[in-house]
Amino acid sequence: MRFDHDSLPQRVRFASGGAAESLAAEIEQLGVSRVMVIAGEREKNLARHVAGDLPVVVWHHEVVMHVPVDVAERARDAAAEADVDLLVCVGGGSTTGLAKAVALTSGLPIVAVPTTYAGSEATNVWGLTEASRKATGVDARVLPRTVVYDAELTLGLPVDMSVASGLNALAHCVDSMWGPRADPIDRAFAGEGIRALRIGLPLVVEEPQGLEGREHALYGAYLSAVAFASAGSGLHHKICHTLGGMFDLPHAQTHAVVLPHVLALNAPHAPEAEDRIAAAFDADSALAGLQRLRAELEAPRALKDYGMDEAGIPEAAEAVLAAVPAGQPVPVTAESIARLLHDAWAGVDPR
Ligand code: NAD
Repeated sequence: MRFDHDSLPQRVRFASGGAAESLAAEIEQLGVSRVMVIAGEREKNLARHVAGDLPVVVWHHEVVMHVPVDVAERARDAAAEADVDLLVCVGGGSTTGLAKAVALTSGLPIVAVPTTYAGSEATNVWGLTEASRKATGVDARVLPRTVVYDAELTLGLPVDMSVASGLNALAHCVDSMWGPRADPIDRAFAGEGIRALRIGLPLVVEEPQGLEGREHALYGAYLSAVAFASAGSGLHHKICHTLGGMFDLPHAQTHAVVLPHVLALNAPHAPEAEDRIAAAFDADSALAGLQRLRAELEAPRALKDYGMDEAGIPEAAEAVLAAVPAGQPVPVTAESIARLLHDAWAGVDPR
C-alpha cells in the first residue's frame, strides 16, 4: 500500500438542537465580534433562531443556486462595508457556496451550518457562475473553519429534496472510490458514508420529523464530502457538472438520476469499489444495493422530468468526453457516454 493523503483542517460540532450553543462557543473561541450571517429567504427564520444572540452586523439573504458572480459581488461588498470578521452561513450548498465566494477574496473565516446533505461545508472547493458557465476551483481559504451540524435544522427539508440531496451525498461516496486522487482513506470514509446514508435516508422518508434518520444522513453527508474533497471528481461529477451547466438542471436531482448509470458502467471494472460499495449496502452487488435503496426512497428517475432537452445529448457527450478524469476505471467513448446520458434522460434501468 502506498499513497499520499491530505486531511483538511476543520472542527466539527455535531449536536441536535445545539446549533445556537455551538455557534456561541465558536464566536468565543475565534475571538470575533462582527458577524455576517448568510441565509436564503427560506432559511431566514432558521438563521435567526440559531444566530439571533450572536454579534451580527449583517444579515444577508440574497442566495442564488450556483453563485452567480453579481450575487457574490454584492455579498462581498456587504461584508467589506460592515467590516465583518466572521461569516456564518445557514443553509444548503448554495448558501455555503456564497460564503465561500466571499471568503475567496476576503480571507474571512467561515462557520458553516448546513441544512441539506450537499456537503460543501467539508470541502475546499468553490464555484461561481458567469454567463451560464460555472467555474470551480480549490482554495484553502474557502474551507469552513468549523461545521456546526444540528439535525433539528433539517427537519423542515421536504422529503423529496431530502432524498435527492442524500443521493447527492451518496454520489460523493461512490465517485470517491475511483476519483483521480482516491486513496484507501477516502474509500474508508466513503464506505462508512454509504452505510450511514443507507440507514438514514429510509428513516427520513418513513419519519421526516424523526431525528435518528436525519442524524445518520448528516453524518453520512459529512463523510461523503471529506472523501470527495480528497479523492476529486470522478466521471459521475464530470457528467453532472456538464449537464447542470448545459441544461440548467437542479443539482441534487441530477446526481440522484445519473448515479446508478455511472455505477453500472464503472463497478464491473473496479473490483475494490464494487466490493466496498456492496458491503456498505449489505447487498449482493453495488448496483443491487443502490437500486434497492432508490426503490425504497422513490428516487428521481429521469432527467427529462427536470427539463433536459434530448437533442442536446450528443453535444453533452462530447463535453463529458473532454473532461474524463484520470482514474476512470473503464475507457469511454462519445457513443458510450451518449448512451448513458440517453438512459438517464429517459429514466430506463441502467445497463
Ligand atoms: P440548495 O442550497 O440550493 O437548497 C435547495 C433548496 O432547499 C433551496 O430552495 C433551499 O431554500 C431549500 N432548503 C435548504 N435547507 C432547507 C431546510 N432545512 N428546510 C427547508 N428547505 C431547505 O441546494 P443544495 O443541493 O444543498 O446545494 C446545491 C449547490 O451546492 C450547487 O450549487 C452545488 O454546485 C453546490 N455544491 C458545492 C459543493 C462544493 O464542494 N463546493 C458540494 C456540493 C454541492
